This record gives sequence, C-alpha cells and structure tokens, in this order.
Amino acid sequence: RSAVEIATEAIARVEQLEPKLRSFLCTTPTQALAQARSVDAKIAAGEQIPLLAGIPIALKDNMCTQGIVTTCGSKILAGFIPPYESTVTQKLQDLGAVSLGKTNLDEFAMGSSTENSAYQVTANPWDLERVPGGSSGGSAAAVSGSECVVSLGSDTGGSIRQPAAFCGVVGLKPTYGLVSRFGLVAYASSLDQIGPFARTVEDAAILLEAIAGYDPKDSTSLKIEIPKYSQLLTPDLPKGLKIGVITETFGEGLDPQVAESVHQAIEHFRALGAEVREISCPRFRYGLPTYYVIAPSEASANLARYDGVKYGFRAEADNLMSMYTQTRAAGFGAEVKRRIMLGTYALSAGYYDAYYLKAQKVRTLIKEDFEVAFSEVDILITPTAPTTAFKAGEKTADPLSMYLSDLMTIPVNLAGLPGISIPCGFDDKGMPIGLQLLSNVLREDLLLQVAHVYE
Ligand code: GLN
Repeated sequence: RSAVEIATEAIARVEQLEPKLRSFLCTTPTQALAQARSVDAKIAAGEQIPLLAGIPIALKDNMCTQGIVTTCGSKILAGFIPPYESTVTQKLQDLGAVSLGKTNLDEFAMGSSTENSAYQVTANPWDLERVPGGSSGGSAAAVSGSECVVSLGSDTGGSIRQPAAFCGVVGLKPTYGLVSRFGLVAYASSLDQIGPFARTVEDAAILLEAIAGYDPKDSTSLKIEIPKYSQLLTPDLPKGLKIGVITETFGEGLDPQVAESVHQAIEHFRALGAEVREISCPRFRYGLPTYYVIAPSEASANLARYDGVKYGFRAEADNLMSMYTQTRAAGFGAEVKRRIMLGTYALSAGYYDAYYLKAQKVRTLIKEDFEVAFSEVDILITPTAPTTAFKAGEKTADPLSMYLSDLMTIPVNLAGLPGISIPCGFDDKGMPIGLQLLSNVLREDLLLQVAHVYE
C-alpha cells in the first residue's frame, strides 16, 4: 500500500478513537498527508526507500515542531508556534515517518498520570477510567490504542517507562546524551532524555537507531558510533549473561501482583540460561528525595524564560512587573508552581548547601551503587512501577503518593543509565504490568537484545 493510503487509514482511526482516548492535543492530518505524498513521490522516482517510510508516528508535545503548535501541556505556551524543528523530529521526518500529531502530557512533563495537563485527561486504552501514566501518557496511549505504530516520549524520572508499563507497551529511556535534546522543551536538563514507545522491542530498536547520534546543537550529546540495534537482536540470550535483581525494589509498597509477575519473569530468564542473583543498591531508596530536590531546582531555572514576552500566552497588565507576575500566575498550573517554589527554595543562598549540594552528593552515591552492581552483573531487573494503572482522580489530591509512582525509575535518570520497560503480565483487573531492565551506560544493544529474547 502507498504511504498516502496508510496515512489516510491512520488519520481515520485516530478520529474514531480520540473521543475516548484523548491522546492527542493536536492532530496534523494535512501535514501527515503532505509528508505521505512526498514519500510516495520519492518511491515512484526510484529513490531508496527510507527507514521509516510511511510509518504513522506521534510526538509528545514538548518537542518543538516548526509551524505546529507546541504547548507542553501548559496554558503558558498556548498558541506557541516554534520557528524551528527539534533534531529528533527532523530526523524522523527525513526518514519518511508520518507524524499524526502532538500528544498529551503532564504540564512541562511534571507528573505521573497525565492529569496535570492543562488541556485534557488521557484515558488508558485497557480501562478508560484509569490513567495512562505519565508524563508521556498521550504517547503511550496512542501506541497502546493502535492510533500510531510508534511514538516519542521524554523521560526525566520515568516518564517513558512508567506509562509504557501502565499501557502494556515497550518504552525505552536511552543513556543520557545518546539522543539529542535540541528542541526538547527543558524540564530538568541533567535528567531529560527522549526515547521511543513501541509495541515490540524490535520497533523500539529501529526507532532508537533513527533518533540517536551526535548533534552539534546539543552540547551534552555524545560523539559515538550508533550501532544498528535492530540488527543485533538474536533469538537467544548472550552466553553467560548475569542478571541482578535489585533487592531494595521488592520492599514495602509493592503491589503483590506486580511482585508475582516480575518474579515469574525472573524465573523465565533463569530457564533461558541466565545466571540470576540478588544485588543490593543500598542508596536506591534515596533516589526519590534526591530527585525532588534536583529536578525542581533545574526546572525553576529552566522555566524562568516564560515571562509573557517571548512565548505563547501574555496576561493583560498595566506595567511590566505585573505583566510578568500575572502571566505566570495565570499561565502555570498548580504542580508547576509547586515545583518552581521547591526549586527556588532549594537553590536559595541560605539553603543551597543543605538541599541542592547535598542532593548532588547523594546523586553521586546512587551512581556508585549502580557502578558496583554493573561490575558484577550485565543487566539489572526491577518492577517498572510499584502498582498498575490507577483510576483517574485517585491520586490528584496527594502529590506524595503520586511521586511514589516513580520510585523504581528515578534512580536510573540520576545515574544517566538506559532502562526499558516491557510488558510482563496482567493483574486481576486485566491491567498490564511492566518489567524494568537496566544496563550499563551505552549498552542499549545488550538491553534491547535481552528484552527481545524475553518478549
Ligand atoms: N513523574 C516524575 C515527575 O513528575 C517524572 C516525570 C518525567 O520523567 N518527566 O517529575
């Protein structure tokens, strides 16, 4: 079938499902069809068929797309049309992918359920009363509900892996620096990474191959050769593979059904020939409090640019100072304001040493725990999230219980490591359970291979 035929079908399916799922903040059928036509023209002209020719994709709405509104799920960016394209979305376009639109997210990617979006609540395709996870909930739901084949999310503390687990799809957070952040609206710059959602590990590998690589426009991007991840997938586990199960992730607060499924997955790896043992990461549990000092600190600095002058929304006011304050008061939602206040407090002269500096030191200790673990094993296993998808509204009044959703994923961002969530079963309500696999830095090849064999 032609790219135009595929795009037409995908657009119709999105139209049919959106009233229920609400994964997209904006759909771009005109641009999708134009891109599909240009792919078909290239094929007709006998040009080489690009890697993602005609593949329907979706993009989290915190990646800048030239000429297409990019809101970050925030009122403060209402109507903001970026004058440039982010590196990753440009790469996908160059490879022939057909973007169907921009997906819903927690405002500025702050949240774990997508309920912090200023615009709409996205439903979990497995149970419409439940949340899809977050903050990349729209991108996860769009793949899970077959609105698109693959999508992009961003992960600062679990925002790809946790929604992947909640929606029963594959989600990968790459090593920090593997994928360019140019054009990704910054939340916490030392933690943010863009990564793929897919229905299979192979599709995730192909998408990672497409977006990874050095970018002179991102000073933190790594100058390395990108392996052909998808061609390295094999039917068997590498000989002598050592897997470590992080002891500390099986404690209090873990849903027994999640624990049971993950234990079954571990037994499966043993049966496939892996040597499995317990590994302790004693500082793992300090990840959450460390993150909630570092991420808000970086966010408070990154979000200083939204002053009503340069982007999006501007409040009416009679002088400059009140224009700033009223724009920010009306433009930011409650969670974003909470984070800005936490961050400015932690960075303030009197508290910097006690909070920010201390958190940076603990971050180093958490990283050291992983270094020790990876000197003994090749892959680490944890549940992706302590529970399966919860009901919409269940945790909105209690930010702390919402924060606990990312207990297992956050330490991975603090250490800059790659992590993948793959489906490993269902609870008694039929909701998907996610298994998190971790590897050492830049071992996405091994990570994907192991995930692929399990799948
Ligand atoms: N839920 C976490 C937070 O609210 C992580 C979000 C993310 O990874 N973007 O900060």
